[in-house]
Amino acid sequence: MKNKTLFIGATHGNEPIGVNVLKKIEKKLKIDWTIGNPKALELGQRKYQADLNRSAPGDKNSDIYESRRAAEIICWAKDYKYVIDLHGSKRDFGAFVIITRLTQETLFLASMIDVGRIVYIPSFCKELEGPISEYMDCAIEIECGDSGSNKSELELERILSNFLKKKDTWTEIDMKAKLSKMEIFEIYDFKRKLPGIEIDDFKPTMIDNEKFYPIFVSSYKDNYSIAYFKMKKIQDIFKHKQLR
Ligand SMILES: [Zn+2]
Repeated sequence: MKNKTLFIGATHGNEPIGVNVLKKIEKKLKIDWTIGNPKALELGQRKYQADLNRSAPGDKNSDIYESRRAAEIICWAKDYKYVIDLHGSKRDFGAFVIITRLTQETLFLASMIDVGRIVYIPSFCKELEGPISEYMDCAIEIECGDSGSNKSELELERILSNFLKKKDTWTEIDMKAKLSKMEIFEIYDFKRKLPGIEIDDFKPTMIDNEKFYPIFVSSYKDNYSIAYFKMKKIQDIFKHKQLR
């Protein structure tokens, strides 16, 4: 039976936090991990030819490096029970889990991550299509805020070490108890222009009688010309119509 976890660092080459932390953990524990986009990491850029996290399922014969790489990583992932893809942001919003495929299994995996928030990101528009985690059996992303800081690295090291300790004994009861204490959001829309008022990640916002929580404010400006995404809170995730 598959019982191993694959960690992926630097799916985006300008987010080295995962690689830095996995190298530290590897000195103490045996873990399986890979650099998502080594060519982009070498350049210190988000991508080499394309965004790896928008290239899934990918094609082994493509001319585009990231398309070949996505297909390769998704193929390896089949040997693993869990995959955890590590990302970093410049925003100081603390770490949270991203789910791209809403299943009982991904919720179970997400509940083992010691953070207070889960963000479900369905691929409802072309700008969100092709995250590698969506094409794996049981994969999540961890988004670490303020990825340049030592504080964020220590926080991610703590989160991953705790996950490794609990992953073989975690139960359905543990999952339900943990999820009931977490805030769970779903991205449902985006805007290309910032509103006239100041908005901030996860801060409840009211514009034109619509209440929402902004996320990734100004983070996707350069790559997808998106000023921010809008989220709603999910009250009972087990009743969500997309849950498989
Ligand atoms: Zn990223």
